[in-house]
Amino acid sequence: MTAIAFVGLGNMGGPMAANLVTAGHDVTGYDLVPEALERASGAGVRVAGSAAEAVAGADVVITMLPSGRHLLTAYQGGSDAEGGLLAAARPGTLFLDCSTVDVADARTANAAAVEAGHRAMDAPVSGGVTGAEGGTLTFMVGAQESDLDTVRPLLDVMGAKAVHCGGPGGGQAAKICNNMVLGASMLAVSEAFVLGERLGLTHQALYDVMSTASGQCWSLTTYCPVPGPVPTSPANNDYRPGFAAALMAKDLGLAASALEQTGVEALIGARAAEVYRTFVEGLDGEPRDFSAIVESVRERSGRSAPEAVSD
Ligand code: NAD
Repeated sequence: MTAIAFVGLGNMGGPMAANLVTAGHDVTGYDLVPEALERASGAGVRVAGSAAEAVAGADVVITMLPSGRHLLTAYQGGSDAEGGLLAAARPGTLFLDCSTVDVADARTANAAAVEAGHRAMDAPVSGGVTGAEGGTLTFMVGAQESDLDTVRPLLDVMGAKAVHCGGPGGGQAAKICNNMVLGASMLAVSEAFVLGERLGLTHQALYDVMSTASGQCWSLTTYCPVPGPVPTSPANNDYRPGFAAALMAKDLGLAASALEQTGVEALIGARAAEVYRTFVEGLDGEPRDFSAIVESVRERSGRSAPEAVSD
């Protein structure tokens, strides 16, 4: 049994912490939002009154926060955190950040933790809320091998796979590379369906060809952006997330920032980031799955979905 502090008990962190409790670990949780604390308490997480209290007796501190800004504030203290986790934890505590953040922020957080006398690693996830609930996440790990060995039993509870991607920031690097492909491929598949509509193809006919031809990809066969061909895709559920467009826009923004920092000229990735940013701004906070980008391709092309070819 490991003494775990879990900070950030939202859509992802809540069920991840609950799975650790079910596996018999001693989990103390903290979140800024009272509803998140209530839900976690209902799942057996011991709720702390402050971040400092949560981490005081922990061997491992897991964070699952919205962004790099939140992560650095939580680690070092600041206006929306009650005190820095790094200062409150016992020397030698292992800090495991599972949030998706900028590679540079991940490396800054790691260095700050090491400087404060701790061990630290980044392990962002893919698999979404369903994966968090089912304990089937994939972890992309940036860590020393020995630190990965220490937390592997915990990752095995929360996920189905953990890939060691390199040293600090390596996990975040792999995550944004993957999601840059995902955003670009969803946009490309959506554009193909809208073009097919205009050329008189049914969605099913185009799907049947592309899914067994060289256009085949996850955005088509698992997450098809038009209703019909893949019954489990969010397109059949009025584009309710799923994987929210806002999160895709965030990940593409992180990729765009990494492109700028590294000087890599990625025309498609950079354009996908712009397209998703504009799409999310237009949603005005409405939760939409990222595959709903097909609707914006149609809108920009000046016509709504043609009934005759949608089955
Ligand atoms: P969320 O907004 O539901 O949860 C984040 C939680 O962190 C909130 O409850 C918030 O109150 C809390 N928080 C913020 N600052 C805090 C602080 N200083 N101290 C304590 N709590 C604090 O977000 P989520 O969907 O759970 O996503 C978390 C991370 O996982 C994000 O980085 C996201 O990009 C990544 N992610 C999400 C998904 C998904 O499908 N939701 C999939 C993969 C990765």
